[in-house]
Amino acid sequence: MTSTLSAEWFERARAVMPGGVSSPVRAFGSVGGTPRYVASASGSRVVDVDGNEYVDLVGAWGPMIAGHAHPAVVSAITQAAAESASFGAPAQAEVLLAEEIVARVEPVERVRFTSSGTEAVMTAIRLARAVTGRTLIVKFAGCYHGHADAMLVAAGSGVATLALPDSPGVPAAVAEGTVVLPYGDVAAVDALFAQRGEDVAAVITEAAPANMGVVPPPPGFNEHLARITSAFGALFVLDEVLTGFRVGPAGWWGIEGAREGWRPDLFTYGKVIGGGLPLAAVAGDADILDRLAPAGDVYQAGTLSGNPTATAAGLATLQQLTPQAYARLDATAAQVCGAVGAALDAVGLPHTIATAGNLFSVFWTDGPVRTYEDARRQDTERYARFFHAMLDAGVWLPPSAYEAWFVSTAHSDDDIDRIARAARTSAQAAAR
Ligand SMILES: *Cc1c(COP(=O)(O)O)cnc(C)c1O
Repeated sequence: MTSTLSAEWFERARAVMPGGVSSPVRAFGSVGGTPRYVASASGSRVVDVDGNEYVDLVGAWGPMIAGHAHPAVVSAITQAAAESASFGAPAQAEVLLAEEIVARVEPVERVRFTSSGTEAVMTAIRLARAVTGRTLIVKFAGCYHGHADAMLVAAGSGVATLALPDSPGVPAAVAEGTVVLPYGDVAAVDALFAQRGEDVAAVITEAAPANMGVVPPPPGFNEHLARITSAFGALFVLDEVLTGFRVGPAGWWGIEGAREGWRPDLFTYGKVIGGGLPLAAVAGDADILDRLAPAGDVYQAGTLSGNPTATAAGLATLQQLTPQAYARLDATAAQVCGAVGAALDAVGLPHTIATAGNLFSVFWTDGPVRTYEDARRQDTERYARFFHAMLDAGVWLPPSAYEAWFVSTAHSDDDIDRIARAARTSAQAAAR
């Protein structure tokens, strides 16, 4: 397998783009080597500019849940684009997608579209501060909520991958408005509320964290957050940018909240709802969302928000996501976990495979992994060796040990066989 052309493109990119990339993890910084330039992708397969084909377990970080270039999604995009890529005016597709989201998630009455998850979270925080008249935001270490200033404190995703301290450029006054607690720690939450409960505007959490690797919420944790925020008049923001419509028809809330009888005040969505195009949303009760301009007094806007091409792609993607599709995703995820776990067991490498619905990741350490601190104990150099061996064997994994692996409905038995075979040889390479 050669990657000459990828290397040439990366060289060119570095001359004109910081680090050669548009988003940090793509640069392969934590696994070493040269990022592969993708030429095209179809179904479960990605082809790079050197002509190498890979089974894809990244799925564009979530959106390609129905597989790449799904015919229904391509047709929705091309049809919408032929009618003009953007209007900057109300259009039907955004209404249809909002209706689909409202129909799927019982607590959601209103949806405001944005272009990125980062913006959706920024809007959720602004709303929470406006509604409560307070400023303090509580988040959990290792959870990633996009790159807005207030959320770049002990964040997951690329911040975890690059082991960055909190980012320069975030004013201390802004960072002080965010309290970071260890994930899953009910006692820490209670202590914070006992001390500063009247100052808290919102608690934000990933519905099931998947940006420090996958760390499923301990039983009752989200429910506790819903109850304590409500008791203190703060809002509970459930960040489902990654889990929303991936782990089930109503996201992680549908798996946990609907059954346990709790609801957040605000949801954030992204990734899957855009079907691969830039789209995200903040959603929730009418009485909170209608504080947004022009219904209310809280300003929020976007030139491309609710873009007709993106909303059409998102709707076409959601339409593929039937109960059977979710059953298939769950089964595929279980098979991949089984194959990778068996391969690592066979060579005796310490590892923990963590799952949350059809999301999963491998921690290169003995478990349990319950917090960001636990996750950071993993051997990322082993992962780098495993990653490159998998890549050479034709399997495309996230270029970081701190990211979830993503399956799609396009993965076939053939793909799973290829992953299993690659995992056996790659586990040996990692063990060496
Ligand atoms: C990806 C992600 C975001 C940020 O979304 P962008 O579209 O990358 O800005 C926020 N929260 C979670 C949980 C995410 O996974």
